[in-house]
Amino acid sequence: MPGWMRDDHKALAELAYEFFAKECEPNEKRWGRQQHVDRDIWHKAGELGLLCASIPEQYGGGGGDFGHEAAIMDAQVRALAPSFGGAVHSAIIAHYINAYGTHEQKLKWLPKMASGELVSAIAMTEPGTGSDLQGIKTTAVKEGDEYVINGSKTFITNGFLSDIVVVAAKTDPAQGAAGVSLIVVEQGIKRGRNLEKVGQHGQDTCELFFDNVRVPTSNLLGEEGQGFRYLMEQLPQERLIIAVPAVASIEKAVELTIGYAKERHAFGKPILAFQNTRFELAECSTLATVARTFLDGCIAKHMAGELDVVGAAKAKWWLTEQQNIVADRCMQLFGGYGYMVEYPIARIWTDSRIQKIYGGTNEIMKEIIGRTL
Ligand SMILES: Cc1cc2nc3c(=O)[nH]c(=O)nc-3n(C[C@H](O)[C@H](O)[C@H](O)COP(=O)(O)OP(=O)(O)OC[C@H]3O[C@@H](n4cnc5c(N)ncnc54)[C@H](O)[C@@H]3O)c2cc1C
Repeated sequence: MPGWMRDDHKALAELAYEFFAKECEPNEKRWGRQQHVDRDIWHKAGELGLLCASIPEQYGGGGGDFGHEAAIMDAQVRALAPSFGGAVHSAIIAHYINAYGTHEQKLKWLPKMASGELVSAIAMTEPGTGSDLQGIKTTAVKEGDEYVINGSKTFITNGFLSDIVVVAAKTDPAQGAAGVSLIVVEQGIKRGRNLEKVGQHGQDTCELFFDNVRVPTSNLLGEEGQGFRYLMEQLPQERLIIAVPAVASIEKAVELTIGYAKERHAFGKPILAFQNTRFELAECSTLATVARTFLDGCIAKHMAGELDVVGAAKAKWWLTEQQNIVADRCMQLFGGYGYMVEYPIARIWTDSRIQKIYGGTNEIMKEIIGRTL
């Protein structure tokens, strides 16, 4: 067990595993076909305390810390249930509201997010800009006590099922980063296509359109023009919550492949008897140990409030890179069966690929690190 894991983290991890294994994994195929989870699963997760675990109890959350979010995310990967978008909702979006919202805003949205009554999304990326966030074109123009929002967003996780969306928009279009604000939009959003992806088929990823959407100015999070700063402040946690499934996925891939290599025979012996198989798995198993040690150190640092943007960028790029390397090497050892979607290693392989792209691409992570050298 990782050093940062206390008994309460362990208990939550067990509860979460049972939920993902019983309520989610058996539905994965169907959710993949319909391209989203059933709405009801959000209520079930909320009832069990698996949403907003690290939000204060005063606002309906579990009153826990990042370790609780990590324990849930880790359990989700182990149970092979990738579709549920609870991590972005709980570990990322709820924290924007908790950190920058007023007491009234927190009371309005957080308890319902914790119960699953509200599903949330965060909309930064636009068709024309992803990495270069200060170049967003969506505008929020003040008219009396309302903002009028115009623009379009794409690749939005939970976008199809979402009830509220934290939108990054320019309240001062003449400015770059200094013009960005975060506004919570509750209605009036037009949904475009629920996008068909290479992997993570059951997790909805949607286009959103804003056509003169009127939002009360009281839905602004924090101060006007501070949105970019808020996004930067929350990035270490956002990137770390991506690194958590990376390591769980490496460990799961190695575990599944060792099992398979013992059972599968070729040339009259188990494929584990071939030196190449043992060497491949020896290397992957070593990578799993190194990855786990690195991640646990980062989690402990973050829980102590000491993980900075550079440290989180290192964790995000390196661990997601290793995730893809291990997924590919393990899949190879499954032979043709590894390419069949009924084998979990195939899903691990396809689901891993996006990890190097979202949450800031791995190239952007290296830019962040490189700038400080
Ligand atoms: C499944 C999925 C879920 C997502 N969920 C969300 C979400 O919930 N909310 C949200 O707002 N966004 C979301 N995204 C968007 C995601 O964060 C962006 O796709 C990502 O940040 C990259 O932006 P882009 O696609 O515009 O690529 P671009 O910025 O166009 O990048 C293209 C290529 O150029 C490289 N590049 C760009 N700038 C530099 C540079 N300065 N130096 C070196 N290389 C560079 C990139 O690394 C990349 O390889 C999601 C995306 C996917 C696919």
